[in-house]
Amino acid sequence: ERNILKVVNMHVSFKTQTGRITAVRGVSFELNKGETLAIVGESGSGKSVTAKSIMRLLPKHNSEITKGDILYEDRSLLKLSIKKMQEIRGSEISMVFQDPMTSLNPTMKVGKQIMEGLQKHQNLSKTVAHKRALEMMKLVGIPSAEARLEDYPHQFSGGMRQRVVIAMALACNPKVLIADEPTTALDVTIQAQILDLMKDLQQKMDTAIILITHDLGVVANMADRVAVMYAGKIVEQGTLDEIFYNPQHPYTLGLLQSMPKLNEDRSKPLLPILGSPPDLATLGEGCAFAARCPHTMKVCHSFTPQDTVVEDKHTVACWLQDVRTPKEYLPETVVA
Ligand code: ATP
Ligand code: MG
Repeated sequence: ERNILKVVNMHVSFKTQTGRITAVRGVSFELNKGETLAIVGESGSGKSVTAKSIMRLLPKHNSEITKGDILYEDRSLLKLSIKKMQEIRGSEISMVFQDPMTSLNPTMKVGKQIMEGLQKHQNLSKTVAHKRALEMMKLVGIPSAEARLEDYPHQFSGGMRQRVVIAMALACNPKVLIADEPTTALDVTIQAQILDLMKDLQQKMDTAIILITHDLGVVANMADRVAVMYAGKIVEQGTLDEIFYNPQHPYTLGLLQSMPKLNEDRSKPLLPILGSPPDLATLGEGCAFAARCPHTMKVCHSFTPQDTVVEDKHTVACWLQDVRTPKEYLPETVVA
């Protein structure tokens, strides 16, 4: 399979009042045409920063991609001019933000907002853009679509507003859609409707989707592959089945045990992951999860684990699973 997007060893830092923090510390993944990759991980693990980096929408005044590359159809997005990048955002890669109001202008009618992008980036005439905007509003299931094109964002309910944002993101037929918690704020029924809708549109348009979510039920429903992030790194990635049924990283296991999954025995108790994520400002060598890991070994504190292959398309960065780990470091249970 050919990848459409490839992130290579990306590092992202922020200048903050208390100093520099590296929020993304060497993230690599590929996204294939038409597939859905879910990115999961606790709050603060760097999911949104990863997404915004790809879009090149990080705040200019205090952030920097310090290392690595982002390749879209084999071309580096980091080398593009601002103008060229704007064109890509309006036509090839679009994003649904965690907060829908980020993408909406509160003072402009939603119809005009959807049309503007189309007129600017796709060179559509006003009439054609209007037709397309209406078509998208209908497609995302907004009732009385024609009339609603004349409404302002605040006149929509949360669920409808999220549909508008999705309509806007998909109006240009993007090849890549990055959806950051697209349904978290919505009630379960609407959430299911919107996810179905995204799947539908994906099939129609062969869109590749990066889906960022806390919800393993959503992951189970949507994802072909899953990347698990912890403290700015992908600690494990693999197919949905591999991650759900053959997890290798203690953090992945912790995550699976701490969150409800779909179609699972609800009487099974959920086990929280004890402790809290590390301070990104002071993180040094070693595994970032070591302080919370139930299997920590000496090596984990001194050396950062590298990706090792578990199965085809399944990698993990954990000394427990790494053949390179010297035997004397391993706990007896693992050696045996
Ligand atoms: P959540 O699940 O809560 O959305 P996340 O995985 O999306 O979490 P990010 O928003 O990517 O987390 O943040 C990763 C880290 O980067 C956090 O420590 C956060 O404080 C820091 N960060 C993000 N944006 C900025 C910013 N504009 N300035 C400074 N630090 C930032
Ligand atoms: Mg986020």
